Amino acid sequence: MTGKVYLVGAGPGDPDLITVKGRDVLQRAGVVLYDNLAAHELLDLAPCAERIYVGKKKSDHSMPQTEISQLLIAKAREHAVVVRLKGGDPFIFGRGGEELEALHDAAIDYEVIPGVTSALGMAACTGVPLTHREHTSSVSFVTGHDPSKIDWSRVGHSETLVIYMGLSSAADIASRLIAAGRAPHTPALVVQRATTPRQHTVRTDLASLAEAVKPLKPPATIVIGEVAALGDKLDWFARRPLHNKTIVLLRAPEQSSESAHALRSRGAHVIEAPVIALEAIDFAVPDLAAYDWLLFTSANAVRFFFAQIPDTRRVTPRVMAIGPATAAALREYRIVADAVGEGVAENLQGLSGRVLLPRAAVARDVIPGVEVLPVYRNVVPPGAAEKIAAIAHADFIVFTSSSTVKNFLALDGRRLLDAGARAISIGPATSETLRAHGIVIAAEANPHTFDGVIDAIIR
Ligand code: SAH
Repeated sequence: MTGKVYLVGAGPGDPDLITVKGRDVLQRAGVVLYDNLAAHELLDLAPCAERIYVGKKKSDHSMPQTEISQLLIAKAREHAVVVRLKGGDPFIFGRGGEELEALHDAAIDYEVIPGVTSALGMAACTGVPLTHREHTSSVSFVTGHDPSKIDWSRVGHSETLVIYMGLSSAADIASRLIAAGRAPHTPALVVQRATTPRQHTVRTDLASLAEAVKPLKPPATIVIGEVAALGDKLDWFARRPLHNKTIVLLRAPEQSSESAHALRSRGAHVIEAPVIALEAIDFAVPDLAAYDWLLFTSANAVRFFFAQIPDTRRVTPRVMAIGPATAAALREYRIVADAVGEGVAENLQGLSGRVLLPRAAVARDVIPGVEVLPVYRNVVPPGAAEKIAAIAHADFIVFTSSSTVKNFLALDGRRLLDAGARAISIGPATSETLRAHGIVIAAEANPHTFDGVIDAIIR
């Protein structure tokens, strides 16, 4: 029995630009063959799959095309679902046709799932429409791999030209186009790492193109034509408030992805490096009727407590939440806090009678007048040290609890702060711990929620 090979377009760089169908098939993959243009994050969708890098860079053809095709055939005999993941679209300068023919000849079942090609990703994320009623009604996709093979007198008149793989031959292409009659002042645009938080755009014209591309490295795509001048006004992507900023998130994996998404949607390059993980503690369910107040100081405490409470309708004590995120977590259990406070100390006096405080197990567990119930503990997740060590540069580091501060420092994170990364704190308790360790706080969130953190970074 042989499996099926899926030729999947990974999209132009932003991992979220893969198609739904492409993502689904990746999740079912037994093996993924990928190259350097496909976003690495996409491999996380197939955590158990065998991964084979068949990368192709111009300078180093790691694996010849025939070998890739042979490997696809061999893998189809081992796995039910084989994914060949290609940057952009497999059929636009991706040699997808050759791979498909080899599969066909070997009688292997296959399917092609298209992807957003770089030209379209680049157009969307620079605000440059490739066609425009007033400027152009035709567009050509051209490879710059070998300009001598192209009849520039024909494509040269196509109004919008999108040139893939054109960085190293840009000078040659520009002079051939001008020789073929295209005006030297025709607008041109070069977009590097399009659709990613590192996208970089250079605006120029045909005459200056050769000079303009000199500092750039692949992958980059060149657009030539009147439309190239339009993007300046419509450049929504680079105008997002956190574009090109690298932000490190240290919070536990359960909370990290939503926060990361919120930052990414504002243009940030987010590195998720959780330095804490939360572990449930099995506790004996207390007799809640014996208490007057239940006090929660974090959303985590709420979740780990109620995970072990069979029926939340039996929660008879009054409930106090410290912080809006804690109150929101209570609402997930259909509990409306009777009181919402800012900090623990100033609110304790207001609580009369017996108070139960479910929270993390920590060393200094004495708060006068309350009974502490440890419901979870913070641990350092495996691999955290390596993740921190792998970070080369950061603009901001987000501290969302005292534990993130302590663990980050224990994992040698201070080097990033020393190199200029700025510390953002979610609230007073975290700030206190930061100060105690001599860390300068660039901004503290207000309100003390992740939305507050985002505002603080932007400010
Ligand atoms: N199949 C791919 C193209 C592969 S050829 C697709 O459909 O996009 C490689 C070329 O694609 C690069 O030289 C560059 O011109 C373009 N490219 C790929 N990713 C890019 C990116 N993120 N930004 C700009 N150009 C990109």
